[in-house]
Amino acid sequence: MNETLPSSNMVKVSPETLNSPLSNSTLTTLSTATESRTISSTQLTATKPKVTQAPPNAACYASQTPFIVNLNYSDIDFLEENVDFIEHLLEGGSWRPAQAVSTINISIIIPYRKRESHLAVFLLNVHKFLQMQNISYTIFIVNQVDDKKFNRAGLFNVGFYEAQKMNSSHDCYFFHDVDLIPDNGNLTYCCSSDAVLHYATAIWRHSAPGEIKDYSMFFGGIVAATASQFQKANGFSNRYWGWGGEDDDFLKRVRASGQNASNIPFADGRYVMFKHDRDKGNEPNGLRMKLLGETQKTWKSDGLNTLNYTVLSILKKKYYTEIQVSF
Ligand code: UDP
Ligand code: MN
Repeated sequence: MNETLPSSNMVKVSPETLNSPLSNSTLTTLSTATESRTISSTQLTATKPKVTQAPPNAACYASQTPFIVNLNYSDIDFLEENVDFIEHLLEGGSWRPAQAVSTINISIIIPYRKRESHLAVFLLNVHKFLQMQNISYTIFIVNQVDDKKFNRAGLFNVGFYEAQKMNSSHDCYFFHDVDLIPDNGNLTYCCSSDAVLHYATAIWRHSAPGEIKDYSMFFGGIVAATASQFQKANGFSNRYWGWGGEDDDFLKRVRASGQNASNIPFADGRYVMFKHDRDKGNEPNGLRMKLLGETQKTWKSDGLNTLNYTVLSILKKKYYTEIQVSF
């Protein structure tokens, strides 16, 4: 997550719009192997301005089941032996509600390279979290297998393009880091036709559980867009190699294409983030400020319409569909 941009177009989406009736009054208890703590959502809400804008899409279903984050897994094989909800997954990490009343189909797109332990914890928690909501979804891991600098934004573009080919019925795309785990069972995953949504508004670090940081000035971590919103912005830029800048660039594209960007409220968009070192191959991109200065004039000719990549394989694994890609 990168430099702060002025957020003049940022509007708050009302939690009511996202159908989360308990979101302002519930106590969420988090238990992990090493710690346990309680957060009052009411307290969190009190620190932020009141929500101002009605939401767009009330079609999400909120779960009223408390969601307990489990950060205690480090091995994907362990899931197979110990977690029964995994049994109900369809091939390739898809799931459909038993009563097929849901009209929401979500693709979760994860940019990925060598984060095995984060991936195991992500899968354990996020499958469970999403199955508490009445939505159909598929998890796509877009694995950059070449030796070039990591290209998070390019991987999102590839994931969008390939997921659309596989599931043309999916209309809502989550562009989602692997190291952010939702810790609020009342948070629902859906898209808004009114705005591209920034989900990871309030983040606490696994290593510093008392502190919850406000990320409402950023547009990284997790954003959700419909297919048409994403296409209108021409996706992400393909020009950001290494860490930084691509998320700010995406916010600029959303605005340049005449669209709104909204934060999920601080009390709802709450995530755990793993502490980690900067990955090899994802060193800070020294060109990012220069690139950001060019977005206005380049966004239409750099993005989904100039995507250049090779798919080495598509593996329908039990917990996810893996797209192995080189640029
Ligand atoms: N990522 C990855 N392997 C890498 C670098 C990044 O899988 O070598 C993915 C992963 O999904 C991660 C995201 O890219 O969550 C963002 O990178 P990073 O976590 O380093 O960014 P920051 O923590 O600064 O937001
Ligand atoms: Mn990270």
